[in-house]
Amino acid sequence: MGSDREIAGLVASSLAFGRVAAFQETLGSVFAVLDAAGGPTRAATISNGLRGLDPLRHRWIGGAEVATLVRAAATLVGRHGSLGSVAQGSDLASALGALVDALRSAAGESAPQLDRLVSDPRRGSACKRLAMFARWMVRTDDGVDLGVWNHLRPDQLVIPLDTHVARISRFVGLLTRATTDWKAALEVTAGLATFDEMDPVRFDFALAHLGISGACRGYRHRPTCELCPLDAVCQAPLRIR
Ligand code: SF4
Repeated sequence: MGSDREIAGLVASSLAFGRVAAFQETLGSVFAVLDAAGGPTRAATISNGLRGLDPLRHRWIGGAEVATLVRAAATLVGRHGSLGSVAQGSDLASALGALVDALRSAAGESAPQLDRLVSDPRRGSACKRLAMFARWMVRTDDGVDLGVWNHLRPDQLVIPLDTHVARISRFVGLLTRATTDWKAALEVTAGLATFDEMDPVRFDFALAHLGISGACRGYRHRPTCELCPLDAVCQAPLRIR
């Protein structure tokens, strides 16, 4: 069901921080609970369908907060048919901001429990996790992205910017801004659009993987950099050990 994929993507993106192995394990536990209840939408509507989330914990996020997110998202699906129907706006920041507003409204007095799971790009932070969620929803289904939303185009996406992507982007001249925020994400995205204006975010994984994998040391190291595809354009600092 499309709405279950939306909720699953929202939950997965909201927990995608910290060590990859750690959040993969958490997500495995979360989806085991949701699947056992017949999927996220059903889990949120049947008695005790989300109870199994209570003991879960990922870093500073507790299972009760995840349950609040699932419940709020399922409420929106029940009211509007999909999360995409709510995520409307003239650009990605306003569309995701509208989704955040609606989730908080649906959560009612539990809205503060969403604060650590979904951030609002209209407030200026990079909002890597929501930008990644949007990427999954908008880009064509290719085995990673899901292509669930068709009211936004890939050229409206903004790169999910974290410290890894920001660092590599600065090395190769895609980012001059010192702060890693939404404006920085827009700057990197605009730079990538010079290579592919229809789908600039498709380079996201290539940039992120260099940092996440540990392949890049964060400074010039001849044996490492000779193997890097960015070697010819990289302006990373020299560091003599
Ligand atoms: S060339 Fe070296 S320093 Fe630059 S991104 Fe690649 S691995 Fe990192």
